[in-house]
Amino acid sequence: MSKKILILPGDGIGPEIVTEALKVLEVLRRDHGLAVEMEQGLIGGAAYEAAGKPLPDETLALARAADAVLLGAVGGPQWDRIEWSLRPERGLLGIRGELGLFANLRPAILYPQLAAASSLRAELVAGLDIMIVRELTGDVYFGQPRGIRTLESGEREGFNTMVYRETEIERIVRVAFTIAGRRRRQVCSVDKANVLEVSQLWREVAERVSKEYPAVELSHLYVDNAAMQLVRAPKQFDVVVTGNLFGDILSDCAAMLTGSIGMLPSASLDAAGKGLYEPIHGSAPDIAGKGVANPLATILSVAMLLRHTLAQVELADRIEQAVGAVLNKGLRTGDIMAEGMQRVGTQAMGDAVVAALRQQA
Ligand code: NAD
Repeated sequence: MSKKILILPGDGIGPEIVTEALKVLEVLRRDHGLAVEMEQGLIGGAAYEAAGKPLPDETLALARAADAVLLGAVGGPQWDRIEWSLRPERGLLGIRGELGLFANLRPAILYPQLAAASSLRAELVAGLDIMIVRELTGDVYFGQPRGIRTLESGEREGFNTMVYRETEIERIVRVAFTIAGRRRRQVCSVDKANVLEVSQLWREVAERVSKEYPAVELSHLYVDNAAMQLVRAPKQFDVVVTGNLFGDILSDCAAMLTGSIGMLPSASLDAAGKGLYEPIHGSAPDIAGKGVANPLATILSVAMLLRHTLAQVELADRIEQAVGAVLNKGLRTGDIMAEGMQRVGTQAMGDAVVAALRQQA
């Protein structure tokens, strides 16, 4: 039966990069029998302009009915001054919350061809392939009570609550173990169990869940040490699983090890494996409409969609190999440009990936 993908181009470079990702999906449909139907919807600033809010009911209904959502990016300076609840970014937070997308998968992959783009020495990062699994709907970002109160002394104090239930920990840790089982079979759970009770429970639950996955090795790191290890010797990691706050910080740090924001995809999954797939970068208003944005993060988001929601692992591999082939040919968009390489625009990069896919045996 054919699967439904909702396409949400969004704002800024969103429509340009999504156009290239759609070309890739089209090739897989035509040449490899991928049975998908695609529908388009509005989100972000584009939805605000057309429908008065960043996440129209119609978009949400389409997202609920779809098996997966592919998103470009949202936001732009023209919407920076509108009311907070109507800002483009609220559309993205809204769809993540409404769909119950609790597992954020953030790979930090550095193609060997781009090792020079990293701020670390090439030998430390060439071939880097880490998967950060971040819990996305709990922790201090959502815990109650929270607020700013005035004490008797008249001084104000701000407070938030770091809280995780066992079931929340179990389900995110299971996602990490499942993914690690398909990779190098190592999970590193990151917490602050030397100081925080919530982390002590996290560690205990991670240990308990690990018994269900005897083929996968579990280790633990305190978050401060994990941050240090990520910049000291990042290739030691396979899958890292952690809470919302620690994951927010560590996933950005890991992403930047690769030095190429235009290359990194992401996924946010619900309990049934339905997912929202998007590049980690934003709408890049500074280059929107110029035809120079790197579409590879969005194309690689399609590969993640095929792997994690549609279980089309072979087709996902094909896309990743096609991207590797294009980089081998020396084609580069501006963000990953290096001496001796051939600079291309958004459309030419997308066309090159399509050509590389067609050339595969
Ligand atoms: P950004 O990621 O949009 O851009 C940061 C820098 O990276 C810019 O110089 C940009 O030109 C460059 N860049 C980003 N993607 C690129 C690509 N594919 N190819 C080449 N260069 C690329 O971050 P920002 O400038 O802080 O934010 C711009 C807007 O995007 C804001 O409105 C912000 O709220 C929004 N934003 C959206 C998302 C999202 O949709 N998930 C994420 C982050 C930021």
